[in-house]
Amino acid sequence: METSTEGTARPDSSAVTADTAVAGGPSAVPPASLSPSRASDFMQCPLLYRFRVIDRLPEKPSEAATRGTLVHAVLERLFDAPAAERTAPRAKALVPGQWDRLRETRPEVVELFADDPEGERLARWLAEAEALVERWFALEDPSRLEPAERELFVEAELESGLRLRGIIDRVDVAPTGEVRIVDYKTGKAPRPEYAEGALFQMKFYALVVWRLKQVVPRRLQLVYLGSGDVLTYDPVVADLERVERKLLALWDAIRLATETGDWRPRPTKLCGWCDHRAHCPEFGGTPPPYPLPVPPSRAAESDGGRQGRMGPD
Ligand code: SF4
Repeated sequence: METSTEGTARPDSSAVTADTAVAGGPSAVPPASLSPSRASDFMQCPLLYRFRVIDRLPEKPSEAATRGTLVHAVLERLFDAPAAERTAPRAKALVPGQWDRLRETRPEVVELFADDPEGERLARWLAEAEALVERWFALEDPSRLEPAERELFVEAELESGLRLRGIIDRVDVAPTGEVRIVDYKTGKAPRPEYAEGALFQMKFYALVVWRLKQVVPRRLQLVYLGSGDVLTYDPVVADLERVERKLLALWDAIRLATETGDWRPRPTKLCGWCDHRAHCPEFGGTPPPYPLPVPPSRAAESDGGRQGRMGPD
């Protein structure tokens, strides 16, 4: 996955997520499904996963992540226009209206610019969003695309009972029936050695589509608006089976942590992006009381170190 929060504040990746859990405290329930974002959280740091999914601690919106949400909304809405009218000026003109809409649907983003009475920072931020939108036209030509789906919520249950869910930015279906899954990123493309992590989310979606439609997507495509790159991968069945095995192992580790209450911090340089350092023992903090029951017989159990070793491949 990405190594920054740029462009990740999608409806499926915020702390209020598609993963099934209700607000922390007495009504907290164990997680019942997995999304790519939360799977990545657990791989990055099990304690971060706990804070987001079990405790549901609030997180502050960030400029970068909110800009990602805004740009995604613009790219999605542009396809409402007839093909010939899907131009860069038209797309950029959608930015102010989509920002208004975002403020209505997620009022918390207003605080991002609360200390900007002259509106200078907001104007700069909106201009950056417009630049990202404009860059898209150098990478894809929306006048030649007719997506089969946009912002598609998908959910599939594996034979094991694990439910996978998420939101796919765009699904293209060729006349031959071949499926392409597309995801927009407002950050920069990862270096080649990190490409596998970036593709994890796409393989996750490919697995869900395969399980739902019995069709292996022909192509997975990541469109990096921040750097102007397109990363593609053509999966085969063995890739998806590998991801499935990976997710089942991940889910086993999550379930064990849920039952034992043993959620370990795993400090990395990404801690700099974490909103929960005040609650993290690695930074001198104390987690809130664990809101789920832990049978005494399980409290002393550990997972033999699996929490610290999980990666996307
Ligand atoms: S600060 Fe780092 S170690 Fe602590 S919960 Fe956040 S990501 Fe995990």
